[in-house]
Amino acid sequence: MKVITIPYSFDNYAYLIICEKTGDAAVVDPGEYYPVYRELKKHEIQLKAVFCTHHHGDHIGGLRELCDEFDGIAIYGSEEDSGRIPGLNFPLTEKSTVSIGKITGQVFATPGHTRGSICYSFKDHLFTGDTLFGGGCGRLFEGTALDMYESLNGKLRKLPKETKVYFGHEYTSQNLKFARFIEPDNIAIAQRLAEIDNKQGTPLMTTPSTMQLECATNPFLRCEEEGVAQKAAEQSHVDPLDPLAVFTVIRKMKDSF
Ligand SMILES: [Zn+2]
Repeated sequence: MKVITIPYSFDNYAYLIICEKTGDAAVVDPGEYYPVYRELKKHEIQLKAVFCTHHHGDHIGGLRELCDEFDGIAIYGSEEDSGRIPGLNFPLTEKSTVSIGKITGQVFATPGHTRGSICYSFKDHLFTGDTLFGGGCGRLFEGTALDMYESLNGKLRKLPKETKVYFGHEYTSQNLKFARFIEPDNIAIAQRLAEIDNKQGTPLMTTPSTMQLECATNPFLRCEEEGVAQKAAEQSHVDPLDPLAVFTVIRKMKDSF
């Protein structure tokens, strides 16, 4: 399996997933048509499927034109997004399986950012849309803090540490500045920020990261850590031994950081 990252719209990422045995390709979150089309033509790839992580326009904006260009493509997305993702013909739920060529993947229902947000796992590659970001997580537009906490900590955090994490936006630098504010003594966060400071270009292309790196640096996966819990308790007197309460507080703090 090969993955090609396609940046678009300043800080968005779409991804091509190619089965090297059959040549079949799928795209994750085609928010714009031309950047995806250009990449497909460049590699002379025939698009067979679209994997949508959620219904927001900056992730599905290129869908209609791709459907016009490539006949009979499969459009995957959460059944919660039926009617919100144009042309959705393969509605998915928790633990649904999907495939492209000879590659099969698993779906995680990860509500929080939206109620129909899902992540796709193919071998050790995880596509997280706006649920898990480099150093952060998505805003709570339709779900509750409990939804997002369970999605991140009950599901994604349990994946193998070597899992590569492909996220939907380049927010890593800003997220890690917040992470450093929450845990000023965390050396892994300082190191990750220093590495990013050495990168050039727009976007910075910090995707993919790994679950190991996220577990070490992402405060939303670290609510049981003493430093994170203390910071939340200082802010709003929550019980530092209640990770959901800690999560709820730091998610709110991030909104106004
Ligand atoms: Zn979104």
